Amino acid sequence: MRVPLIAGNWKMNANLNEAIVLVQTMRRELDEIANIDKVLCPPFISLAAIRDLIKGSSIKLGAQNVYFEAKGAYTGEISPLMLADLCEYVIIGHSERRQYFNENDEIVNKKIMAALRTGLKPILCVGEKLEENEAGKTKEVVITQLKGSLAGITNISGLSVAYEPVWAIGTGKAATGEQANETIGFIRRTISKLYDEGISQDLRILYGGSVTADNVDEFVEKSEIDGALVGGASLKADQFISIVRQTSKIKQTR
Ligand code: PEP
Repeated sequence: MRVPLIAGNWKMNANLNEAIVLVQTMRRELDEIANIDKVLCPPFISLAAIRDLIKGSSIKLGAQNVYFEAKGAYTGEISPLMLADLCEYVIIGHSERRQYFNENDEIVNKKIMAALRTGLKPILCVGEKLEENEAGKTKEVVITQLKGSLAGITNISGLSVAYEPVWAIGTGKAATGEQANETIGFIRRTISKLYDEGISQDLRILYGGSVTADNVDEFVEKSEIDGALVGGASLKADQFISIVRQTSKIKQTR
């Protein structure tokens, strides 16, 4: 049985004070929701403070990015070793990193390798752009991203994948549950071919793209979808708590 996972990607939002207030608002209720992994991914500058705030709770912490070198003259970068002291998870290959910071599958591959080597749990983001979707290239894009991002990696224990169609991120135009389930099933079959059936069955695969408390059920009711990577709605305490609560409840009845 795969433990469901909801991760909140705060992106470049909330200064340190706002981050502390948001976590204080959510902490008790989130902590009480069982049988689900709930991960907060604030900006780097808030990781240390939030780590201290959630100590002793069931809430987990993640970063939104990482560099692949361990240390050295890489001004402005954060290494996996630095993160390992602070958090458990790290989002890698988010479409905004690919779009604005020119991250390609080769860079994503190095980051995944470095994160896994350091004991971090990467959440690898894949997904097609609108024009690729309209051209019927979703599977082609996703398989290329998976193969490129996981090239040369033999042990993916600790990895999760987030299927995030780029056209659904921050647009309010989510995929349908059927669309997401179909592509996520395809991702699982691809992982089975690249690794083996057991590994693919253990892999958690999330949907991401305009998930809210109003539509999350449609995704997590599906057998292939193990949870969600949530952007905008993770900044609203009541929304995020509802998303986690509904997912936990639905997955327990499956
Ligand atoms: C994301 O940032 O990964 C995301 C899915 O954003 P949103 O939920 O706002 O679409």
